[in-house]
Amino acid sequence: MALSSTVESMKTSTTLKIDALAKEMKNAGKDVVLFTAGEPDFPTPEPIKMAAKAAIDSNFTKYTNSNGIQELRMGIVKKLQKDNRLNYTPDQIVVSNGGKQALFNAFGAILEVGDEVIVITPAWVSYIPQIKMWKGNVVLLKTFPETGYLPDEKSFEKVVSPKTKAILINSPNNPTGAIYPPKTLEMIANFAKKHDLYVVADEIYEKLSYDLPHLSIASFDGMAERAIIINGFSKSYAMTGWRIGYSASSQVIAKEISKIQSHTTSNVNSIAQVAALKALDVDTSYMAKEFKERRDLTVDLLSKAGFKFFKPQGAFYVMIDMREFMSEKSTEEFCLDLIKTAGVAMIPADDFYAPGFVRMSFSTSKQEIENGIQRMKSHLIAS
Ligand code: PMP
Repeated sequence: MALSSTVESMKTSTTLKIDALAKEMKNAGKDVVLFTAGEPDFPTPEPIKMAAKAAIDSNFTKYTNSNGIQELRMGIVKKLQKDNRLNYTPDQIVVSNGGKQALFNAFGAILEVGDEVIVITPAWVSYIPQIKMWKGNVVLLKTFPETGYLPDEKSFEKVVSPKTKAILINSPNNPTGAIYPPKTLEMIANFAKKHDLYVVADEIYEKLSYDLPHLSIASFDGMAERAIIINGFSKSYAMTGWRIGYSASSQVIAKEISKIQSHTTSNVNSIAQVAALKALDVDTSYMAKEFKERRDLTVDLLSKAGFKFFKPQGAFYVMIDMREFMSEKSTEEFCLDLIKTAGVAMIPADDFYAPGFVRMSFSTSKQEIENGIQRMKSHLIAS
């Protein structure tokens, strides 16, 4: 019997394949440097864990409001006011199972069959499958390292159509590390208003902004109604496994998001919600400081070694242009070869729509960064 063609056409991720191979080799005692991590390598801060333990002991273990407990939504409202100068009310916040579910809900709330979403590439791997699951169409807008991976108005004008419903933005960006400056955000905001579009803004790496401050597109004039802000606790508080994210949107959109949430997963794990509430009081700037130092080290070593790359301004990834080393190989073959021969694991960026590039994660120790880049250099450049 036939299966869903939408799901059948989805690719399984190469990211997972490479990561699995590298970890398997490491477990077998092989010396492999892992530059594949998509999560902070810090443990969840102690006060957050304590709050979760206390929640269990006080039997806070039942269903909650499917949008999330009021205290947490109130806490998120305050955070948005304080950090982003955005004014929301708790009924505009829906707490979800990670930023990932918040994104999925957002696409569901706004897309009709055949509606187009402009996705700026290189782009994180889950956006496109999610849009397709809601029967939306994806229109790619390519950006390049030479122009800071920033989109310009002309390229938006080229891809917009009467079917365009939304623009997806992700700043700080995974995988490029680009942060959109105010001018770019303003251009996108004006474009969205001109063409009557929603903007889904994935701000999950907000706290990891090194060179310029993070600015939310919802703070621009007239954007509160059309922006859907996606954020979460995974990257900001080293809480990837807890699965806590959220969306902030207009009341009208939040109501639709809330329906999807309630009919799919209901509330996020009650204990994780209490932990997230605590997290809002925890200062994790020491993580951002360490990531910035690692970014500086990575950039310094890569440029001394002679690699071509875009200097990331945020998040914990750097895109390296490997085309000159690849000859006839695909990026995946190149990465597999690099694991086996040099003992360095990185993600081929084909799944991010940037073939020929690899994504190196610097969410690992400085020693591993030095060691791994040295190996890449002797394997690719000195040989
Ligand atoms: N957006 C981006 C750009 C990401 O890199 C990730 C995680 N890798 C997410 C969203 C989702 O994160 P989570 O579901 O853990 O909040």
